[in-house]
Amino acid sequence: MRLPFFLAKRFVAAESLGETLPVAAALHRKGLRVTLDQLGEYISDPELATSSRDAYIELIRDLANSAEGIDCNISIKMSMLGQKIDESFCLDNLHQLLCVAKENDAFVRLDMEGSDVTESTLSIFERVHPEYPNNVGIVLQAYLRRTSEDVTRMCELNARVRICKGAYKEPASVAYQNMNDIRDRFIEQTETLISRGRYPGIATHDDILIRQTKEFVRANDIPAEKFEFQMLYGIRPNTQISIASEGYNMRVYIPFGPMWLPYFSRRLRERKENVFFVLMNMFRR
Ligand SMILES: Cc1cc2nc3c(=O)[nH]c(=O)nc-3n(C[C@H](O)[C@H](O)[C@H](O)COP(=O)(O)OP(=O)(O)OC[C@H]3O[C@@H](n4cnc5c(N)ncnc54)[C@H](O)[C@@H]3O)c2cc1C
Repeated sequence: MRLPFFLAKRFVAAESLGETLPVAAALHRKGLRVTLDQLGEYISDPELATSSRDAYIELIRDLANSAEGIDCNISIKMSMLGQKIDESFCLDNLHQLLCVAKENDAFVRLDMEGSDVTESTLSIFERVHPEYPNNVGIVLQAYLRRTSEDVTRMCELNARVRICKGAYKEPASVAYQNMNDIRDRFIEQTETLISRGRYPGIATHDDILIRQTKEFVRANDIPAEKFEFQMLYGIRPNTQISIASEGYNMRVYIPFGPMWLPYFSRRLRERKENVFFVLMNMFRR
């Protein structure tokens, strides 16, 4: 059964690129940068992984022609390029994608998924980064016990990292479960990335972490262009604009495409209120 798209509309811009571009342009006019994510994950059919790669290649070319003037990154999940089928098949798909990204001066961020693929994703990243250092970045999740070491590993590579809390359900053996512990790790890792890393993305809607990041850069005289804040489309849109108007770089992650259900479910799981919001909209129609 396919759920109707209107349910996801608060978190997913549209089902097609054509309808998503005006959303990106509107955010750009408000002083925001964007990341486009063509949704899809955990693909188990090689043909589908190849067509996902081709769809991303087309996306990069389309953006080069149609999103002129908009500061637009791209995000992709390795499981969409066949990581779960065969790592070298996935690596080959990623190479082809990054080759087109390089030709078009585009930046592609590898999203981070469940802890079963963390090491595989980092190792794929390490294999492509030397060839495309300006075209590819990675994500680390503060809730994982391993992440402080991964932050050092990525700083040594001079890689562009997005730090976020982490959105997948993980056992206590691999991930901190307590919000204060996760926040402590997040701010520690953010400070390392801003001091020693390369233009990190600080991806959170959490006021405590945003305030601590601002205090850290102020106390250490770190200019705002050394990093950027990132938030998700549909979450705290007024805060996105107000942070940008304070002079910080703010990038909004815009998911789109027909395969929106897993992403939408993660956003619902994060907050009970979202379930009520969706239910209310169902009954309003
Ligand atoms: C740009 C970006 C990219 C991301 N990429 C990844 C990734 O690659 N891998 C990964 O595992 N995770 C990713 N995440 C998700 C992230 O790991 C968290 O699950 C998510 O951001 C919620 O954590 P938070 O720090 O925003 O704080 P929270 O404590 O969850 O939220 C703080 C406040 O933000 C608001 N808020 C947060 N979430 C919601 C929501 N769903 N609906 C409505 N309001 C909300 C509320 O006001 C809440 O009180 C990404 C997040 C962002 C912003």
